[in-house]
Amino acid sequence: MQLEEEHIPPLCPQCKGMLRPNVVLFGDPMPHFFFELERELRKKCSLLIVIGSSLEVYPAAGLPRYADELVIINKQPTPYDLNACLVFHENCGEILIHLLDTLNISLERTNNGFN
Ligand SMILES: [Zn+2]
Repeated sequence: MQLEEEHIPPLCPQCKGMLRPNVVLFGDPMPHFFFELERELRKKCSLLIVIGSSLEVYPAAGLPRYADELVIINKQPTPYDLNACLVFHENCGEILIHLLDTLNISLERTNNGFN
């Protein structure tokens, strides 16, 4: 998608609301499911696989402390690398393709993403 400078931020043609990616951006509130996940992790987390996070911004950066074992996949080093049992400083997508292949898991694309 290419935008002219006068069209930034891009607006919805119907409601004129600001169009934005479906991700949590810096300064956004965390989605409700994050706090449910955190509550579950506090109870028991035998393995946490962190994919594509610098682990430098809270509250996400607080999650590794609940994990018995930690695996980190991130291009750059993170503050938790020394606590992890496995660390990959690689492209997340490439590592995940190898991981799924090794585990013999295939993904089917759906309208909502992957299953
Ligand atoms: Zn709209």
